[in-house]
Amino acid sequence: MKIYDCHIHSDNSIDGKDSVDEICKLSIEKGLSAVTITDHALPMPEGITNYTHIEKCVEDVRIAAEKYKGKLLVLVGAERDDEYLGEYRERFYDFDLDCILGSAHSKPTFSNHFAEYGYVDIKDCSIAAPKEFISQVVKKYYFRLANLAFYADVDVITHLTFLFRYINGYNKRGLEIEPFYPEIDNVLKGVMETEKALEINTSGKALSWNQFMPNAQILKRYYDMGGRIITLGSDAHKKENIATAFDEAAKMLKEIGFTHGSYYVKRKRYEYEL
Ligand SMILES: [Zn+2]
Ligand SMILES: [Zn+2]
Repeated sequence: MKIYDCHIHSDNSIDGKDSVDEICKLSIEKGLSAVTITDHALPMPEGITNYTHIEKCVEDVRIAAEKYKGKLLVLVGAERDDEYLGEYRERFYDFDLDCILGSAHSKPTFSNHFAEYGYVDIKDCSIAAPKEFISQVVKKYYFRLANLAFYADVDVITHLTFLFRYINGYNKRGLEIEPFYPEIDNVLKGVMETEKALEINTSGKALSWNQFMPNAQILKRYYDMGGRIITLGSDAHKKENIATAFDEAAKMLKEIGFTHGSYYVKRKRYEYEL
């Protein structure tokens, strides 16, 4: 099986640990075919984010791509949040990236919403808040993700069940996911209509939660709706987690009926056999 990890953070992300070069070295040892380094691109108020880290990442990848030519395809992307990019938009899209991930996270978009109730973000909200409140947050999350899927200039919709990693993974609240299928289906519809890719994010496999985001049941819904375009992403923030459980993911995907994974070069989609 060929391994294309389309979602990795380097030390150019505020929460990433290893350099692009270290990531590449280990990826070659692990037998990967390609990596896409996708550092966070999250515009903050008052120009805090100036994108120098993306500039640096682009440069790191350029050097690594040359150094490891013929051994590993090294690509550069970014993980864009669903925040309105405003004045940063032009600069961001000028980077000429290989792949843009579209994500919704819990900060800062939710901060006002949470503050009203005395929570900082989904992490602490999912510890203590009543389930009804958490359900509202989840619905709001899927509304945002659907907007990204239908309207944003991104290639991949990431970690579809991200909030559940906190609600059920870390905080063991046991919130059922099935009641949110109408909202989730709407996101999947957006992915399909705009021919984006749906990411299978394997970071939850590194936890005792032990789940893919999304899980097999949701992937089957996507498949039954006609969805075929997928990427695999470890969302590794440290190199040890590169391509976590990709074998298991490929097996699950093939059982559902998927035959190919995708990756992006200069925002054009290519396929490989699972
Ligand atoms: Zn993310
Ligand atoms: Zn990420």
